[in-house]
This record gives sequence, C-alpha cells and structure tokens, in this order.
Amino acid sequence: MMPHKISSTPLWMDGAAMPQSFDQALPAQVDVLVIGAGYTGLAAAHETAAAGRSTLVLDAGAIGAGCSSRNGGQVAYSIKPTYEELKAKHGADLAFRICREGLDAVAYLRSLAVQIDCGWRESGGFCGAHTPRHFRQMVRDAESQPRGLEQRISIVSKAQQHEEIASDFYHGGSVYHDDASVDPTRMLLALLRRAQGSGATVVDLCPVTAVQSSADGFEVLTSRGTIRARQVLLATNGYSGPLSPWHRRRVIPIGSYQIATEPLGAARIRSLLPHARNMADSRRVVVYFRPSPDGERIIFGGRAALAETDPLACVPRLRQMMDRIFPQLQAVRITHAWVGWVAYTFDTLPHLGCHDGMHYSMGYCGQGVPMAPYFGRRIAQQMLGLKEGRSALDELQFPSRPYYHGKPWFLAPSVFAYRMIDAVGL
Ligand SMILES: Cc1cc2nc3c(=O)[nH]c(=O)nc-3n(C[C@H](O)[C@H](O)[C@H](O)COP(=O)(O)OP(=O)(O)OC[C@H]3O[C@@H](n4cnc5c(N)ncnc54)[C@H](O)[C@@H]3O)c2cc1C
Repeated sequence: MMPHKISSTPLWMDGAAMPQSFDQALPAQVDVLVIGAGYTGLAAAHETAAAGRSTLVLDAGAIGAGCSSRNGGQVAYSIKPTYEELKAKHGADLAFRICREGLDAVAYLRSLAVQIDCGWRESGGFCGAHTPRHFRQMVRDAESQPRGLEQRISIVSKAQQHEEIASDFYHGGSVYHDDASVDPTRMLLALLRRAQGSGATVVDLCPVTAVQSSADGFEVLTSRGTIRARQVLLATNGYSGPLSPWHRRRVIPIGSYQIATEPLGAARIRSLLPHARNMADSRRVVVYFRPSPDGERIIFGGRAALAETDPLACVPRLRQMMDRIFPQLQAVRITHAWVGWVAYTFDTLPHLGCHDGMHYSMGYCGQGVPMAPYFGRRIAQQMLGLKEGRSALDELQFPSRPYYHGKPWFLAPSVFAYRMIDAVGL
C-alpha cells in the first residue's frame, strides 16, 4: 500500500480564504502599531481603532500565522495556578481577583461570540482522571470550590464514564459545563474583519525588525521601511523573537502538536464522544482532543516531543497516545499534523503591561483562545488610558530566571520527568 501524504497545514485552514494584504501601502506614521496579527493583536487593534486611534497591525507571516490559526479551539477557565496556590503567594484578595479574570475571559468570549462568526459551541468539557487518586482529588476540588469562583462541575464515576467517552482509559472524571469550543480559523477571520471594520489596517508578511524609542514615541523598523508610532503593542506571544530581549527572557516557547483523523462519519464520532465535548486529562504531560467542527473527525493534540521537532515526525507518538485512549481507532488514517508555539511563563500566569514604554500582553500558557481576546482588549484599554483596562495581573512582576534568554534548555528534561511521573501514576 502506498503511504498516504499527511498535510502539515492545520485542518482549520483547509479551504479557508486567508486574506493577503502585504501589497498595501504602509502609512509613515500611526498612533498605534501592533506587532502580531493573532487574537491578541487583532482584539487590541479593534479597540484602539474604534476609539479613533490610527492603528496598524503588522505580522511577520500570514495573518494569524502563529497559534491563532493552529490551536485546538477549546474554551475553558484558564488560570493554571489554583486559588489556594495564588493565595499562599499573593494573599486572598489578589488571588481571588486573578481567578475572577479567568472566569471573565470565558464570559467575554461568550458575549463576543454572539456578535462574531467564530463557530461557538456550548459543548462543555470533560477532564479524565489518570489515576484513582486524581479522581478523588477531582471530587474534593468540585466540592470545595472557592465562593465566588464556582464553575458548574459534575463528577462522573468510572462506572458512568461511557456516557462521556467510549474508552476505559480513565478512572472517571469531571464535566465542566461552562466550557465551549470555537473554530480557530473562523474566530481569527472574524476578529480580523472586526478590527478592519473599526478602521485598523492589517498587513501580513511584514516583520518588525527593531523598535527604537524616539522623542514622540517609537521608530519601528520593518522589512518595508520605518514607521513612526506613538504607541507600540507587542502581541507576539510564543513567537516573541529577538525584537525585545526583555520579553524573550520571560516567555518560554513550547511546541504543541495536533493531528486530525480522516473523516470517520458523524455517527462514529458521536459513538466515541456522545456529547461532543472538549476532552483533556489530569496527566502532567497534557493531551487534549475534540471532534472537528463538522463532527466528522477527531482532532488530537499534546506535547508529543521531548525537544522541538517537525510535526510530521510527531505523528507516531501522538497516534500512540490517541490509540491508548481509543484502541478502536488504530486503523484510521491521519490526514493532518501541525505544530504551533505556545508561550509559557515562569509563574504560569499571563502577563500584560508596559516595559520601557512598549505595551505587551502574552504568556497565556496554551490557553489563549479565551485569554488572548480578553487581555488584548484590556491592554488596548490601558493604552487608551481607560480605567476599564485595569487587571489584577497588573499587580504582578513578570518573572524571568537566571541564564534564561529565550531558549528553553530545561524543557526536554522537564517533559521527560513529567512523563515518568505520569507513567507511574503519581
Ligand atoms: C497546537 C496548539 C493548540 C492550542 N490549543 C488551544 C486550545 O484548545 N485552547 C486555548 O485556549 N488555547 C490553545 N492554544 C493557545 C492559543 O492558540 C494561543 O494562546 C493564542 O492563539 C495566542 O494568540 P496571540 O495572538 O497572543 O499569539 P499568536 O497567535 O501566536 O500570534 C503571534 C504573532 O506574532 C507574529 N510575530 C512574531 N514576531 C513578529 C515580528 N517581529 N514582526 C511581526 N510579527 C511578528 C507571529 O507571526 C504571530 O502571527 C493552542 C496553541 C497551539 C499551538
């Protein structure tokens, strides 16, 4: 049998009419220049343009070339540290307000989804327990949610598990009823149209090569000449290169990989995931999966490599991870495999603010579908001097580590250690 070809383009991009705008004339001067045309940059550009500020968004690649066309489209409460962990570090009040922002980000996207065409589905999410101990912890967590931070959670025992997933891999789990899903590329295009509709200019294939302070703002050097900007927003997340060494020392780019199965038919997908929920589990090395927006395929993702590699090279490992959960899929073909760089931070929290006069919002730790539009809006409000832009996260330092300059040498040993912990079921 001839080996079949696997596309390394995200499934969501199949047939998507991606606009190209690189031949547009660039203005010599703008009020706001946004670097990066992903969810953050486009959400921010909408706010500043709608407020009457001339706004230009530049991307080094295609529009949304980064994570915003490559993600899994899962929408969930996304503050990684628990309330208790944050409380121990920052006190009860700030911990509460940080956690609230996680809930507010989902609520904001839910309200935006009424206005834009992003393929919003109120699917809910299921988190499978990797061990009986994890299941007991899930029960305790669901029963002791901090007041004011409650999510609608149901516990599913192992005996009931087939109501959620046609697999015996887990030891029960939790259903998060407020989780949702989007079609990542539809959401990207909708945010693009919204920013352009407010008057922002968005140009692809125009890398910014340097940003220099000037008397009245910044001189922004691009592959197509220099542009003067009163304000600059760095919205480069996991793709933050040498442009700003200070930011590069604070975000950890980590490859996240996804595969898509061939179309399996809606009935078969429903038999695997009866409620078509987003799926994840309690392992340290995370996996996540869901039905495709048309309900015909499984999209399966996770951290497949110890060190960064070609997405096609990761297919066997991701396949193996998927087949352990769904042995019944062993014979199906994989048609797409792709990778994107998510931005982790040393405190696993997102960060927004202003450094040396340049604004930024980044570090969503793989959960930017709700957080990037939300914090993109917040940082734009800060740039506009609006008090609504204030965030609990303004009160935090954006931490770095000694000897870290943007190349995460510690990643491979960490992932290896986490895999070992998962394997022994801790
Ligand atoms: C495989 C994968 C699965 C994911 N799944 C989920 C999920 O299910 N749910 C969830 O919440 N999150 C998920 N995420 C994360 C989410 O996609 C991101 O957090 C979010 O898209 C970040 O948006 P952004 O606009 O900040 O950054 P990006 O979309 O990454 O955009 C940054 C942009 O900056 C541009 N850029 C960089 N340097 C320059 C320069 N010098 N000049 C001009 N442009 C520049 C890049 O080209 C890029 O387009 C996933 C990510 C990946 C990779």
